[in-house]
Amino acid sequence: MPAIKSSTHLPRPAVVICFSGLDPTGGAGISADIEAITAQGAHCCPLISCHTVQNSSDVQHVQQADPQLLTRQATTLLDDIKPDAFKIGALGCAETVKVVANIVRQHPGIPVVLDPVISAGGGGKLSREGLIEAIIDELLPLTSVCTPNTLEALKLGQHPTDETLSVADILQRGCHAVLLTGSHRDTKDVHHQLYQSNGTTNHYRYPRLAAEYHGSGCTLASCLAALLAQSHNVTDACQLALDYCRDCLSAAYSLGEGQQFPNRKLLPTGSNQND
Ligand code: PLP
Repeated sequence: MPAIKSSTHLPRPAVVICFSGLDPTGGAGISADIEAITAQGAHCCPLISCHTVQNSSDVQHVQQADPQLLTRQATTLLDDIKPDAFKIGALGCAETVKVVANIVRQHPGIPVVLDPVISAGGGGKLSREGLIEAIIDELLPLTSVCTPNTLEALKLGQHPTDETLSVADILQRGCHAVLLTGSHRDTKDVHHQLYQSNGTTNHYRYPRLAAEYHGSGCTLASCLAALLAQSHNVTDACQLALDYCRDCLSAAYSLGEGQQFPNRKLLPTGSNQND
């Protein structure tokens, strides 16, 4: 049989390749990515970095993906489909970080959004020893936008008590921009900041929502990757992704005993009838 050639006449959505964990609740990880990316009109190619055992309250166990299988899946995929962005979520251990970095390094010039997941919202660990050091050494130099919350930023920088200096450390590692999310701070409103390596800083403020959510960081980072994949600039993409995330959280639903689930089944910001 002759090889099937794709038709040049068909529309091609922007492609985001995601390296993320599987969360069987569907709230976080790869299913969050697929939903948020689809909602932006882009296509998600899912690569599973780890499997988790968890419910809506917390993570109980993490099992790493087989590195050889992950490499083979990614290589086969990338030999065929050209990505417009990469999104990197929970990787779990240093070995998986190295596998992902090796793959991404072979595709320079493509936006990379890194959500440096270290633990779950419920406090359960999503990291083994050496993960943070591997992210700093291997992934930050490849990253277009890193999306840490304040706790993650303090771990990635060399200044464990100073957020601003930690962000400077992250940028120093070669990452182009840091979208520092502020929901973990004890403040009335939530204040997010975008720091870019060209020295600009943007501030985004939102009223604080009362609940706790499962997969809010995944929603933000994957939406951002889908927007960068569609050629939005970083400043606009961060604003749009934060607005989308706020909309998803405002419309959240509850399925289990623990955190609420972002409702990502929304049209992009500005398209909802009640906007
Ligand atoms: N990725 C996976 C597979 C997870 O299980 C979790 C949290 O449980 C996360 C990422 C991070 O979730 P959040 O977006 O709530 O920080």
